Amino acid sequence: MSTERPVRVRFAPSPTGPLHIGGVRTALYNYLLARKHGGTMILRIEDTDQNRFVPGAEQYIVESLKWVGIEFDEGVEQGGPHAPYRQSERKPMYAQYAYEMIDKGLAYYAFDTEEDLDQMRKRLEASKMQPAYDSVSRMSMKNSLTLPADEVKARLDRGDNFVIRIKLPRKEEVRFHDVIRGWVVVNTSTMDDKVLLKGDGMPTYHLANVVDDYLMGISHVIRGEEWLPSAPLHVMLYRYLGWEEVMPQFAHLPLLLKPEGNGKLSKRDGDRLGFPVFPLQWTDPKTQEVSSGYREGGYYPEAVANMLALLGWHPSGNQELFSMEELIAEFSLERVSKSGAKFDVQKALWFNQQYLQRKPLHEQYELLKPQVEAKGYDASQEYVEQVIALMREKVQFAKEVVEEGYYFFEVPKSYDEEVIRKKWKAETGNHMVGLADAFAALADNAVAEDFEMAFKSYCEIAGVKTGELLQPLRVAVSGAPMGPPIWEMIALIGRDFILPRLHTAADKITVAGA
Ligand code: GLU
Repeated sequence: MSTERPVRVRFAPSPTGPLHIGGVRTALYNYLLARKHGGTMILRIEDTDQNRFVPGAEQYIVESLKWVGIEFDEGVEQGGPHAPYRQSERKPMYAQYAYEMIDKGLAYYAFDTEEDLDQMRKRLEASKMQPAYDSVSRMSMKNSLTLPADEVKARLDRGDNFVIRIKLPRKEEVRFHDVIRGWVVVNTSTMDDKVLLKGDGMPTYHLANVVDDYLMGISHVIRGEEWLPSAPLHVMLYRYLGWEEVMPQFAHLPLLLKPEGNGKLSKRDGDRLGFPVFPLQWTDPKTQEVSSGYREGGYYPEAVANMLALLGWHPSGNQELFSMEELIAEFSLERVSKSGAKFDVQKALWFNQQYLQRKPLHEQYELLKPQVEAKGYDASQEYVEQVIALMREKVQFAKEVVEEGYYFFEVPKSYDEEVIRKKWKAETGNHMVGLADAFAALADNAVAEDFEMAFKSYCEIAGVKTGELLQPLRVAVSGAPMGPPIWEMIALIGRDFILPRLHTAADKITVAGA
């Protein structure tokens, strides 16, 4: 890597729909490299293909990246020295480079109609050849290489439809070094003369991408492996335009694979296996179909960033939990693996749980507050924070604290049937009333140990084993067979709320056959 060159990287999505989680990973790796080297991170919107433009997609991309914690120094929102950063607004900048290549004999006008192209493909397919517009087939097409110069001029003067195609050599090796994949060698005989500029003056992805990377001084092109086949063409463009000296380093990232088997992780895998493949929920503007998002699913953005960083990149040690700062310090492209990374749903949940257990309680409270309020629970911040502290070992998402631990805020809605069947005897109801009396003698701010002591001495006096009453007591208080440590749970709910629950359980729970 030339160390002299300032690191300038870009994330360059096309606004053709919601950003796939794999795209978020690409943005993240760019961001980590930029920050690590004190470089510049750019957001460029590649919207030259107007047919595939989806309204709302650009805003979605911007919001998603913000949510995950990826910041840009230049881009559609920030502006910057190379503004505008939306390719449709840069349209007038591209054509000159296509014409420059025509002047140098490295590109040509092509006037073929859809029909002409169709016939060419059929003809080549019939003779078992690659149906491509390439160095061989171009000689039998309608272009400035085959038509007489005066006819070309006449067509252009007339305003006939045309495109500009790159003129690739017939048989030449294109070599470039990819930071992740090593040397890549492709022969131009397997490549086609891609369209660079369309008749309406709009560049294709390839021309606009290379021109912008050059003009914006991009040092590293870090993008998904699906772009690897385009890279040799891009290398040729750098060569043809005389920019080889400043060609960026390429780094093609491995695919994110399905949880089982091979193949790229798709939206359908998410639907089928019940996990989001998009950072935020997305409603398709045409079909109104809703796709789930990590944010709405209750994931922490830090957990998502951490999980994505490790999908395809390996730190030097065994550490798995990384803050963004730690990722920045540790990251290097050299530790990105060549092979695809399997998406692991369990691991995603695990990461979220780790963050749930570590995040400061006051931050978690802010997240849960709307949910607590929507339920109409009248609970102080201190109380909710203590509930979170007790419950977070047991759940994967913060929202489950309120869903599963609802009994911290209201009386049990039902009692676990299995515990009742196995543990609730004819005399258990009386014991609950007895325990209520024992607890009533405690102070109203009694702590866990006070309840535990009172329980033990009640059992001793009543001549009943603690093991026989422990589970019925939990069910009488919470309705649930399991949960946080029982005495802490009871102490937090508080003496005055526990007593009526014990009486209610004694009244309501009846034993079959008793
Ligand atoms: N616009 C391309 C995309 O949508 C960018 C590929 C690249 O980074 O060069 O992924």
